[in-house]
Formats: sequence, structure tokens, C-alpha cells
Amino acid sequence: MLTRNKTLTTLVIFLMFLLGMSGCSSTQPTLEPSHDKVKVFVSLLPQAYFAEKVGGDHVQVDVLIPPGADPHTYEPTPQQMKDLAEADLYLAIGTIEFEELWMGRIRGVNPAMPVFDTSRGVELIAGDPHIWLSPTRAKVQAQNIYTALSEIDAANQEDYQQNLQSFQVEMDQLHQDIIKQFKNIKHKEFMVFHPAWKYFCVDYGLEEIAIEQDGKEPTAQEMARLIDQARQKGIRVILTSPQHSAHEAEAIASDLQGEVIKIDPLSRDYSANLRQVTQELAAILSRD
Ligand SMILES: [Zn+2]
Repeated sequence: MLTRNKTLTTLVIFLMFLLGMSGCSSTQPTLEPSHDKVKVFVSLLPQAYFAEKVGGDHVQVDVLIPPGADPHTYEPTPQQMKDLAEADLYLAIGTIEFEELWMGRIRGVNPAMPVFDTSRGVELIAGDPHIWLSPTRAKVQAQNIYTALSEIDAANQEDYQQNLQSFQVEMDQLHQDIIKQFKNIKHKEFMVFHPAWKYFCVDYGLEEIAIEQDGKEPTAQEMARLIDQARQKGIRVILTSPQHSAHEAEAIASDLQGEVIKIDPLSRDYSANLRQVTQELAAILSRD
């Protein structure tokens, strides 16, 4: 008993000695609790959902384009450029102009950071960047995220693999639920301010009519044509998004004595949001 106590005391003294030694380096910055996590940057909020699902506890995800901001015109803040300099990985959406404009500068502040294009292998629609709004394409993006994370953090590859499998199951379920919701709709066409939903429409047999043309607000002539088109097709609901002004949508809706409904193409809560959008759209498209 006495010997054991003695051994313990020696051990404690030895440990204190070690701690005292490491005290020499106390001027160095202390490691943040998240230091051992992979610091991942993504462009868009839905990508954060994908990256967190695949990365699980091993990643810390930062989103460049904040809620409510327009990804087609966004500029990173100086603080974000500082954070980017510390990041381990950039998961690019691969289709948005924002990345084309800024990637040079982003690489400039952190040349060592791998930039991974998550649109690899995604079936694209020419000229349409909104690939994340298709759960079937989200599966391909998640597969790419898995590849990127496994490359830079091979130690946790098995976890990433498992997380990816769960995510794919979640997307398959979401896809089936959406198909079910649209089964008995009476119309296929809806009018929306910003044309973000083409991938979604292709997947589910719908058609969006956009008010905005090539990123520009419509002229008076185009507005008149859109109102005509809506009347002919019996469209009374105009969809808009939190990232865009609802001005034209409201003008058209009031002409049609219809209403404006907001749907979000950039929600971080991906699956729940797409379910809600589907529910609202299905209700609108089921009206006579
Ligand atoms: Zn867009």
C-alpha cells in the first residue's frame, strides 16, 4: 500500500514536471476545441446540410453565402476571407457564377486548401446552376463530398462511408415522398420569380415559368406577356423566394387576383424544406 502511494507520488511529481515543461510554450495560441475537426467551407446553405450529414462529428462547416443573400451576386466579407485562410477544404457547388468570380481570390488567401467540385458527375441542365434542388442529384454531390473528405481525412473514412449511406437513404425516401405528393395534381405549370426550380421540375414532371429573364427584371412588355400567359394557363399563384424582391410577383398576382407564396431554394434545413415546398406546390397545382 505504502509502495503504491509512493509510486503515485512519483508519478504526480513527474507529471507536474512535464506540465511545467509545456508551460514554456504557453505563449503559443491555444488550440480551439474544433481544431481537430476538418474545417470545411461551402458556398451555399443546402451544401452545409450535405457536408454535415456526410462529415458528421468530424467536420466544422462554414457557409459563404449567408441566409437571405443572393448567391448570384454575393461578395465575401473580409472576415470570411480570413476564415477561408484557415480552412482545410472548399466544397464548391461547381455551377455558380459566384465561385467563378471569387475562386481566384479564395485560392489566393489559402493556396494549400483543396477546392473540390461537387458537381462532378451530376447530370446538368445547360445554363442552370441550381443542381442542389434535385434530391437525386444531391446524392451525387454527397458522393463527391464523401470522396473529398476521405481524401483529406482518411482516418475517418469508414465513418464518412456510413454517413454517406444514411444520407443516400434519406434522399431516396425524400424522392419517393415527393413523387407521391405530386401523384394527383391537376396542373404541371407554376409561375416563379427566380428560375431556381428547373432541376426539381425535370425530376417531378413539372414546369416553371420564370418572371425574371436572364437574371433581369422583366420589362413592361414582358410583364404583360407573362400576365397573359398566366391567365391562359389558369395560374393564380406566383412563387417568390426570400432572396429576391417580390415586387413583380405581387404586381402579377394582383392583376390575376391571385396570391404570392414564398418558397426558399436555399434553406439549410434541406429535406424538411423540400417537403414543405412540395406540399405547398402540390396544393397549388391540385386546384381546379
Ligand atoms: Zn438562383
